[in-house]
This record gives sequence, C-alpha cells and structure tokens, in this order.
Amino acid sequence: MRPNETEVYPVIIIGGGPCGLAASYYLKEKGIKHIIIEKNEMLQTWKNERWDSFHLISPNWMTNIPGIKSRIPYNNEYMSGKEIYKYLKEFMDMVDPDYLENTSINKLYKAESLYKLETDQGIFHAQKVIVAIGLFNQPFIPPVAEELGKDIYQVHSSQYKNPNQLKPGGTLIVGGGCSGVQIALEVKQHTENAVYLSLGSMRPIPVIYRNVNGMYWLNRLSGFSSGKPILPYRDKDLCNKNIQNVISQNLFSCLASGVKLTGRFTKGQGTELMFSNSLCNALERSNTYMRSIEKRIDKEIKRMALNLPSLQVDFNLKTINCDNINLIQKLDMIEHDIQNIIWCTGYKPDYSWIMLDIFNALGEPELIDGYATKEDVFFCGLRLLSESKEKSTFGVGLYAFAESAKRAVEALTAKR
Ligand SMILES: Cc1cc2nc3c(=O)[nH]c(=O)nc-3n(C[C@H](O)[C@H](O)[C@H](O)COP(=O)(O)OP(=O)(O)OC[C@H]3O[C@@H](n4cnc5c(N)ncnc54)[C@H](O)[C@@H]3O)c2cc1C
Repeated sequence: MRPNETEVYPVIIIGGGPCGLAASYYLKEKGIKHIIIEKNEMLQTWKNERWDSFHLISPNWMTNIPGIKSRIPYNNEYMSGKEIYKYLKEFMDMVDPDYLENTSINKLYKAESLYKLETDQGIFHAQKVIVAIGLFNQPFIPPVAEELGKDIYQVHSSQYKNPNQLKPGGTLIVGGGCSGVQIALEVKQHTENAVYLSLGSMRPIPVIYRNVNGMYWLNRLSGFSSGKPILPYRDKDLCNKNIQNVISQNLFSCLASGVKLTGRFTKGQGTELMFSNSLCNALERSNTYMRSIEKRIDKEIKRMALNLPSLQVDFNLKTINCDNINLIQKLDMIEHDIQNIIWCTGYKPDYSWIMLDIFNALGEPELIDGYATKEDVFFCGLRLLSESKEKSTFGVGLYAFAESAKRAVEALTAKR
C-alpha cells in the first residue's frame, strides 16, 4: 500500500512484529481503523533474524497467539525458528492488516494536535500511536568491535545463520546468554578449530525448575498468568523433539564439547584480544542469581499452592569448578588463528527518533499503568504489569505478547 498523506489515521502502529500484529487484531475487534508501519519486512525478527538451527526455549504450550490458538499443539515440545514463523505468518494472514513495510520512520512528533510520522515514503498523520518495536530492538555490538582490524569477520547473532558463513579458522563468541551458548555449541560441532566463549555478566534462565519450563517461571514472577493450566514435564517429555537441545545447552556442554571459556572481552590491541579475569566471578554471580530466582520460584509455588508431579528434572547450571579451567586473559589472533567474532551481546532500544517528552532520565518510556504515556502514544511488548502493579523485568515473550498488545489497545480506547 502507498501512503495517503492527506489522510489522518485514528491509529498508527509502529512495528510489524508479533506485538504490532496483535495490536492490529485487537483494534480490528473494536472496529478502529489503523495501519502498521514496519521498517523492515513484516515479522522481520522471526523471518530474518534467527539462525538456521534456532529453536525456542519456551515450549509449545506457552505460545499464545490469539485467533489461531487451537492450531498450536499444547505440549512440552520446542518449535524451531521456521515453525514459529509459520504460525506467526498464519496469524498475520488471519489479521490481514493494512501495512507498509521497508519504511523507516525518521521522526515522530506532534504538530497541530496530530502525531506526524516522517518516513522515507512521506509523512503520515495519526490521532494515536502504538509503538510496538520490541524490547529486542537494535542489535547491540560493544564499541570495542571498532578497534578490531578489518580482516576478522564479525557478525551479530541476529545476522548469524550457520557455520558456513564463517571464515576457516577459530571463532570467538562474545556473550554467554542463551544465544551465545546455542551458537558456540553449533560452531564447535562443525569445526576442528578453536572456539572461545567470552562471558560477561550472566543472568541465566533456569531451563526447567520444579518440572516446569524456566520461561514460564519468569513470566509468573513478573506477575502474569495467561490463565492456561501449567503443563509440567513428565518422564515421557524428556524424549520429546528438541528437548535435548534445550536442556543440554549450557556451559557444561560447552566445556565438554571443547569450547573454551574466557572472562569479559575488554579490548582488541593490535593482533591481541584481551579478556578480564572475571570468569570465575561471573560464574559465581550467575550461580547466586540462579539460586535467588529458584528461591523466588519456590515462594511463588507455595503462594499458588501448586501441586507439581514428583519427577524432578534438574538440568540447571551448577557451580563450575574454576580450578579446572585454564584462565585465558590474552589471545593472539594470528597465533591462535582467530578469524571470526560472533557478537551475542544482545539488543538495545532505540527511541532517538521519537521527539516527544515521554521518556524518563534513563531514556525509557515513562509508562502510566504499564502501557500509556502522557501523550496519546502507547507502548506494547516492553513489559507486563502484574496485578500488584510491579513491572516485569523479563520482557513479554511469546507467552504474553498478545496480552501486552491487548492491554495497550485497552489503554488507548480508555483514553479519550
Ligand atoms: C534471539 C531471541 C530468541 C528468543 N527466543 C524466545 C523464545 O524462545 N520464547 C519466547 O517466548 N520469546 C523469545 N524471544 C522473545 C521474542 O522475540 C519477543 O518476545 C517477540 O518477538 C516480541 O514481539 P514484538 O513484536 O514485541 O517484537 P519484535 O519481534 O522485535 O518485532 C518488532 C518489530 O518492529 C520493527 N521495528 C523496530 N524499530 C522500528 C522502527 N523504528 N520503525 C518501524 N518498525 C520498527 C522491527 O523490524 C520488528 O519487525 C526471543 C528473542 C530473541 C531476540
């Protein structure tokens, strides 16, 4: 579709990911006219920004896509990236929104009581705006990357597809979260060359705790429950498709398969890569973090009076004995033939194009009741507000994105 610069849209949704589509779904339910403006392709992150062997770390039963719920199996298996994209595409086809893709918004501002979106396709006007650009918005690569020579191949995890795109030689993976670990294991499986995994501060997610998926617990701790009954793991689930991938993707497996762990990557100097001696501290802190999460889950289980089955699957991170690890603080790229760096260093939000006074001192949207701002601008996909009005710090995932969009639309319709 082409922009109609004279038209004033009641609502413009910015971002054509799961949340933007869900916002469209709920606006359609209320008969409110709107369009979606997406800077890349619709469903960009799930279509183009996952590696080929990617699979979810949340099981099928946790995926809540409105309107097509009955098509998604209610079980403890894990979808591949392609499978979840297929369901999200079905959702998009069902919602059938008006949208404009590959359109960059340079500026969002207010003039003459309307919101103006200056794009590379023209200016759009809206009475209200929903920002659905995701929590994982702008791939983040630390500035140290710029100090490295041009000969080394560098790629962010969002652009990594498979080991074939790497140069022959060793690989350094920076970032030991779920993505870093998944990718380090895959690269090591495909090469005889050295693979290093540099760990910064880690906030591990328990894979399975008290027989329930860790992602569920994170949502639960943020105060959100979709109302669906919890599906705990049972013996037979341990043979499910993909579960072995999920439970075996941890630092133990990395060490066992020959991936070498290092502390935080601090700088590149000439041909040398430097690492802090923080590895043992980082491992210790991540263990302490994990134990604190487990305690909070135990408290929540008590509060919910949950009766979980007796099978106790315990694949969570235990203490790795640092005495057995060769602490690497310096690596010469030539001597160790390091040809590639994969940055699994996460994402940062980019709101620099929003010219409205709706941000706090930290540059985060100042949200009223979770979704609204003091302008007629609403956010979804950032966090869920629990019944106790505490904000979630875990993001919304596939379990709660639709609920977040629903609440943003409710906040939008409530504000007149
Ligand atoms: C590597 C990775 C693995 C994940 N694995 C899981 C998992 O196993 N289970 C789970 O539940 N969740 C997982 N998530 C979280 C999941 O991706 C998100 O919760 C979900 O995609 C949220 O949808 P969203 O629409 O808010 O954001 P996104 O999917 O990020 O969509 C936002 C859209 O907005 C567009 N956009 C961004 N900026 C602009 C702009 N300025 N103008 C216009 N458009 C813009 C983007 O191109 C994108 O299409 C994972 C996330 C990542 C990054």
